Amino acid sequence: MVNYKVIKKYKVSKINDMELLEEKINVIKDIDNDYCKYIVSVYNNYKIYIKNDVDNDINTFIENNKFVTVSDYETTYDIIKTVKQNNKVMIFCFEGNDNLDITDDKINMYNKLLNSNKQNTLVIVGNYQKSTKMKLEGIDYRIKVISMSKIKLSKILLNYNPDNIFLNINSDTLNNDVSWNHNIKENLEKLLFNFNNTNIQDFISNPIDTCKKCMHDNNDKYKYSFSKNSFMLEDLIKFLISLKYLCDKNNISFGLNYKNNIVIANIIYSALSGNKVIYELINLIDILMCKNKKEMYEHIYDALCDYLDNDCRKYNYCNFENGKCIAQRDISNKTEYPVNKCNGCCFDVDKRIECNKLQNGACTIRSISCKLFICKYLRDRGISYPTNKNLYIKCFLNFIQRPVFVWSFFKPKEEIINKLLKIKK
Ligand code: SF4
Ligand code: SF4
Repeated sequence: MVNYKVIKKYKVSKINDMELLEEKINVIKDIDNDYCKYIVSVYNNYKIYIKNDVDNDINTFIENNKFVTVSDYETTYDIIKTVKQNNKVMIFCFEGNDNLDITDDKINMYNKLLNSNKQNTLVIVGNYQKSTKMKLEGIDYRIKVISMSKIKLSKILLNYNPDNIFLNINSDTLNNDVSWNHNIKENLEKLLFNFNNTNIQDFISNPIDTCKKCMHDNNDKYKYSFSKNSFMLEDLIKFLISLKYLCDKNNISFGLNYKNNIVIANIIYSALSGNKVIYELINLIDILMCKNKKEMYEHIYDALCDYLDNDCRKYNYCNFENGKCIAQRDISNKTEYPVNKCNGCCFDVDKRIECNKLQNGACTIRSISCKLFICKYLRDRGISYPTNKNLYIKCFLNFIQRPVFVWSFFKPKEEIINKLLKIKK
């Protein structure tokens, strides 16, 4: 089993870092100041993630998934070897490294894959630009290396006429940095990182000011940077949507029948990969494999609702106490949600009444638009779900459908799905 690790762009995971962080948190934990309270609440809700490199949820998520395997290059080879007698398989390898050489295990694996699949084709689709000098020493010359932006999919499928398509994706080279659900984690990690790295003298002499500075520090110097040729997850998914469309049109099966399952991809995973990118990729592949539009919209809806519920529960952004959220409790905050009421933004601002879908402090419907909404108070603190960056919405919904998803406050799932179906492409 692969050891799944959370990639840390802002590292506060070393033991001595953690001890220092805890010491500093102890200094501010009883200070009655919004900035200090916020950092303490982020720390309390986030420390499980910092302390544990392993996110257990991702293991269960991967094990329960039927369309992909998450493993190393050998697994792709094993799958192809097992099924190749009966199928003419075409493998698309998504590789974004720009510095492969003979000592690299991947090159050996590509050569091995090619040898096991001679008649057919192994296509490595890199995102290489003309100006980039690519080193592919040791790679078998029969392997076609094609830039994703240059590839003529219909022509390739017509020429090789495969029975099946199989994908091999190197997740280390997938960049979903701009993806929305990366932003919050990154903001919180960065906040704790900044907090931990404050000068101890400054901190002791003026903890409130130091906390304030940490929250407004936009220094990105510690950010992990991807190779120039890394794939944007969005580009990969758009590519797969076109590939799936052409396969369906030409009766080419997407995936292989392996161990009584249709497996469409092996995702290569190493310590460099982030859990988030795997989670996103698997979910996006699941959406891609939906049988019809209704199933697809429902899947997008449920996956996003689940994600948002878990995220809010885990990090407790709204931090309710006695029915009042953090924004309502802060009387200096000029919120449009009345401070003398409870239940945060479950409030109809136009009618000035609490939402009638709220019963006994809980929502009786699952409105995606409400779940996506984040008030200004939290947005100012780095918490937001920018829907224009969400890949489920961007890749699978058209321009007319997107606002329906985002602006249908107080509306239940069935109503939103029906509206999407009426305006499908
Ligand atoms: S999003 Fe809503 S519930 Fe959460 S803090 Fe803001 S107003 Fe309160
Ligand atoms: S419909 Fe929206 S505003 Fe109303 S209770 Fe549910 S989440 Fe809150």
